[in-house]
Amino acid sequence: MRDAVYSYRAMKRLLTWLSGEPPPPIPDSLWQRAAAGLPFLAALDDDENRRLKQLAEVFLAEKEFTAAGGLELTDDICVAIAAQGCLPILNLGLAAYGDWVGIIVYPDEFVVPRQIYDEDGVVHQFDDILSGETWAGGPLLISWQDAQLAGAGYNVVIHEFAHKLDMLNGEADGVPALHSGLAAAEWEAALLAAYDDFRQRVDDGENTAIDPYASENPAEFFAVLSECFFDLPAVFAAEYPALYALFCRYYRQEPLARQGANGIRRPATPAIGP
Ligand SMILES: [Zn+2]
Repeated sequence: MRDAVYSYRAMKRLLTWLSGEPPPPIPDSLWQRAAAGLPFLAALDDDENRRLKQLAEVFLAEKEFTAAGGLELTDDICVAIAAQGCLPILNLGLAAYGDWVGIIVYPDEFVVPRQIYDEDGVVHQFDDILSGETWAGGPLLISWQDAQLAGAGYNVVIHEFAHKLDMLNGEADGVPALHSGLAAAEWEAALLAAYDDFRQRVDDGENTAIDPYASENPAEFFAVLSECFFDLPAVFAAEYPALYALFCRYYRQEPLARQGANGIRRPATPAIGP
C-alpha cells in the first residue's frame, strides 16, 4: 500500500513547501526500497546518502509527476526517479533543474510521432520508439520499464536529466552551464576531442564498452558519458581520463574514488540512519 503521507500529487506538498515548511520526509522504508534497486548508490557514504535523500525530498516537492500510457504512478516510482535524478546534482544544487517542473512516466517504451522535411520539401512522417526524452523548457519523459534497468552503464534517468543540465544554458550541445573554475573553451575542447575519437571508433566497427549511441552527436555523448560517469566510472576514466577529470570538476563528485581505487564497489552502507 502506498505511504499515504507521501502522495505524488504534488500540489499540496508544493503549497506546503512554498509556505516555508520543510518538505515531508521520504519514509525510510520507501527510501531503502528505492536505493536497493539502484546498485550505484551503494558506494555513497552516509553523509552523501543523507544529503541525496534531503535533495530528493525537495525535488519531489518542487516537481510534478504525471503518469501516461496507463501507468499507475506510485511513490516507489517517484522516489526511484528522484533518487537517480538528484545524484548528478548532489553537489550542484536543485537550481540546476530550476527551469522545468514536469516528469511524465510511461510504463514502457513510448511512441513519439515525428515529421521531417527532406531537401525537396517533402514531409516524411514516422514513429520514434523511445525510452526517454527531454523537451527544452518542458517536461522530461521516462519509461519506467527502462528506468528499472539502471545499472551496468545504462541509466535512462541520469541520461535524460543530463540533457536537462545541458539545456540549462541553451540548446543541447554537450556543454552544460558551467560553474566557476570551468571554462567553456576547455570543456568544449576536451569533450569534442573525446567525441571525435569515440565516433571514429564506432565508425570503425569497434565493440565499445561505452554505448555507441554516444556517437550520435555531442549532446548524446555528454548524456551517455554522464550515465557512465555515475554507473561505470572505471570504464570512463580508463578510456577518456582527461574528460573524466573534467566531469569530476563539473559534477563535483569522484565516483571512481568513491567506489575504491580498484573500481569495485565497497559493501553497501545503510541507505539512511536509524
Ligand atoms: Zn539522449
